[in-house]
Amino acid sequence: MRIVLLGAPGSGKGTQSQRLVARHGIPQVSTGDLLRAAVTEGTPLGLKAKEAMAAGRLVEDEIVLGMIRERLGEPDTAQGFILDGFPRNLVQARALDGLLRQIDQPLGAVVQLNVDYAELSRRIAGRRTCSDCGRVVNLLASTAEAAQGELCPRTGRPHHLFQRPDDNEVTVAERLRVYEAQTRPLVDYYRQQGLLRSIDAEGDIEGVSERLEAALAPPSAR
Ligand code: AMP
Repeated sequence: MRIVLLGAPGSGKGTQSQRLVARHGIPQVSTGDLLRAAVTEGTPLGLKAKEAMAAGRLVEDEIVLGMIRERLGEPDTAQGFILDGFPRNLVQARALDGLLRQIDQPLGAVVQLNVDYAELSRRIAGRRTCSDCGRVVNLLASTAEAAQGELCPRTGRPHHLFQRPDDNEVTVAERLRVYEAQTRPLVDYYRQQGLLRSIDAEGDIEGVSERLEAALAPPSAR
């Protein structure tokens, strides 16, 4: 299973990736998570990426591609991977094709998560992350109370929830604009390659997971 989850900020790529990881045992590769870790650690790469991220713009292709090359070279990705938040533009998509051709591991599917614009903004406003274990919860979702009541698997204490700095209103508007201008063209790119599957990603998390699994099933099982 080598797949790309394609969708706007707030469409549920991270949440659904985590569920695929738990179900299929293949790693999630999130360039957003890798970049945030580099920013937190204050590495030279993180310092370069920080400003673009805070403004909601894309980080330079060269930086992101270097990170992906390194990550896909690690042994845990040999059985498959879920790309979350990458590729984000055509340059990255073509570079990914080249890289996967070199290692003879072509993509199996690209799933587009469709969510209405108003719902995206609403979801992002309610999104919180546990700073200890990385779990993402939404204060607006019916599961929020359950998530806040459960204990963090890292610390054994309640989750320590914080809001991502780029989830503020101004930056979110820019991220959605960047998605439309630079990332949405990938829908046609992958459709032309015969890899694209689209699902309705609104409604409860469980229902979206079911539609995602159905979209990933071999054609005979769909
Ligand atoms: P995300 O967590 O996927 O929403 O990404 C957060 C931020 O990291 C984005 O707004 C970009 O600034 C940066 N970023 C993540 N992935 C990429 C990528 N593939 N290319 C360029 N910038 C990225």
